[in-house]
Amino acid sequence: MSVGTRGDYVKATVTVNEELCKGCALCVGACPKALMTLDGSPLNAKGYKTARCADEAACIACAFCAVMCPDSAITVEKEV
Ligand code: SF4
Ligand code: SF4
Repeated sequence: MSVGTRGDYVKATVTVNEELCKGCALCVGACPKALMTLDGSPLNAKGYKTARCADEAACIACAFCAVMCPDSAITVEKEV
């Protein structure tokens, strides 16, 4: 296993554009690993709670969260 990978798995980065997010939580329900959360996130300029991935190390980079987001606020990047 090399640095930055977990076995044959992926290293994922989940980025939420906080100014696009409106706190609808659709991404929270979409994540099969229950990693997306609104808890503990800052409010954005519009006053919405914003989503974040609570544990990128556990993320499988499926991008369900990004696909589900109606505001295209989420970007999922993965290193194979
Ligand atoms: S990419 Fe998949 S596993 Fe990772 S946070 Fe999004 S929905 Fe969850
Ligand atoms: S689905 Fe998009 S707009 Fe809704 S909480 Fe998640 S990141 Fe924010």
